[in-house]
Amino acid sequence: MHKIFGIDLGTTNSSLAVLSEGKPRVIPIEDSNLVPSVVSLDPNTGEFIVGQRAKRRSILFPDYTVKSIKRLMGKDVRVHIGDQEMSPEEVSSKILYYIKTQGEKAINGPIDRVVITVPAYFNDAQRRATIRAGEMAGLDVVRIINEPTAASLVYEGPAEAASGRHHVLIYDLGGGTFDVSVLRIQGELREVLSSRGNTQLGGDDFDRKLLDYVLDQVKIKQGVDLSDDKRAIARLSEAVEQAKIALSTRPFARILEPGLAEREGRPVNLDMEISRPTFESLIEEFIDTTFYEVKHALEEASIEPEDLDRVILVGGSSHIPAVIEGLKMSINFSPELAVDPELCVALGAAVQGGIMAGEIFDQILVDVTAHSLGIRAFGKEDDYLSDRPDTFAVIIPRNTPIPVTRADVFYTIVENQKKVLIEVFQGESDRCRQNRSIDSFEMSLHPSPAHSDIVVEFSYDLDGIIHVVADQKGYNNRREVTMSVRERGTGDVQASTMEDYLQRKAKKLLKGKDMPEDDPARRHLIEALDAYTEAKASGSQEDLETLEEDLLDAIEALEED
Ligand code: ADP
Ligand code: MG
Repeated sequence: MHKIFGIDLGTTNSSLAVLSEGKPRVIPIEDSNLVPSVVSLDPNTGEFIVGQRAKRRSILFPDYTVKSIKRLMGKDVRVHIGDQEMSPEEVSSKILYYIKTQGEKAINGPIDRVVITVPAYFNDAQRRATIRAGEMAGLDVVRIINEPTAASLVYEGPAEAASGRHHVLIYDLGGGTFDVSVLRIQGELREVLSSRGNTQLGGDDFDRKLLDYVLDQVKIKQGVDLSDDKRAIARLSEAVEQAKIALSTRPFARILEPGLAEREGRPVNLDMEISRPTFESLIEEFIDTTFYEVKHALEEASIEPEDLDRVILVGGSSHIPAVIEGLKMSINFSPELAVDPELCVALGAAVQGGIMAGEIFDQILVDVTAHSLGIRAFGKEDDYLSDRPDTFAVIIPRNTPIPVTRADVFYTIVENQKKVLIEVFQGESDRCRQNRSIDSFEMSLHPSPAHSDIVVEFSYDLDGIIHVVADQKGYNNRREVTMSVRERGTGDVQASTMEDYLQRKAKKLLKGKDMPEDDPARRHLIEALDAYTEAKASGSQEDLETLEEDLLDAIEALEED
């Protein structure tokens, strides 16, 4: 069959995907899912370099390197690369050509027809420029679709969309731009009701903030000013981005750069640790403005947060825990975490390509944690009034794709504390007593001041095994314990918690309708939902159809109530 591929041609990164055996998959380019959207000219050979290698050259050879060309698409300007002059679409076509040829190597076949995504706010000229870029790269651009629309396709395929009308918010925080859109999906129609954002806000700003912070620290601690040292800055730029990414899953990140520069014949070495709160305080203002835009986008679409059916995270920077938490707080709605936000748009473009090529798209199935996992900690005010804290501190939130490793930092309470008790719980209440206790262990501590760091790391895999590591930081004192999360043979790990439309609708009804616990229609719906959910998890196709009908009946009955 003649495949139609999907391409996310991003400001910072691009990627390629295709629908195969009913599922959208990313095609790695030179072993990476993402291709930096950077083009650099090698003046010695006259060759164009694209992707990771070009990104590395951007600071050392800025005159020969072009980044973020997407910002100029559709504009009547010329871009200089060394002694050459090009239009924005010519530069973009170098990226697309690289993706086409490297992708062809990876799949060992031709890539001719593609769907390319663009921001919802792109005007006609910008869309046409994108099509021309594709054509220059030897591609047949069969359709241009909006990025938020593509992202929505991954979570709500045509089958789901057919089942009614719903509203989806797409929060996209990438490298250099932020976009938020509200979509209305009804049958085949996917309508962008509102779209707002900031074309000058993203992960690059976070990197710059962190870089400035590191440079300041070097100046304060070592009396060395590196801000004009191009080579040192080039190395540090890579290092701070890596540190930022590490902080999305860990409470600390170390930046270790020996021989970063030379001053008076002596090397300047950097060995520094950044904590998550330090990083969060540096970017707080930036991310707060995104939440403000989210509220505006909802207002413009005349949608209340509680009318939303889904919130989808898109863009590499939406991996940042403070972004996820902040968004959750500001609209009181948990975003979907099942699909890697960086790849969501490319995967959606592949779904669109698949639909156009007449292929069938199964709803995505991913393994995710069915419940949140965490430990007992001091936190809530009343913890300090009783002799035992009861705050549930989540380390791995529910619906996180597995396998996963996450860590967070906790603190000792008193000076020379002898030991800590690590008690692991599972559940959604913020109180431990209302959650399920998994297991616990004690760790002896070396003498240390009050408020010393204890890093607790959870690794959770597909077998329902959780590996816990507690580390008294800086004292070379660790304890590792493995525990099983499974209970009486029930699979805690759900085959998929990608709730479908019926499940969501049922839950929404149950939440929204104020009626007595023992109302028969309500009870019927709860039972039907449970049976359906169980059948879905066990994968028995026959039962599923009957149960689906039951559930639908129960929903209708309650709606009429
Ligand atoms: P764009 O849509 O602008 O092309 P992406 O969606 O690929 O960009 O996002 C790129 C940005 O995401 C970069 O700034 C990168 O550093 C950042 N990023 C990627 N992964 C993470 C992570 N795990 N935590 C924080 N930031 C990340
Ligand atoms: Mg993007």
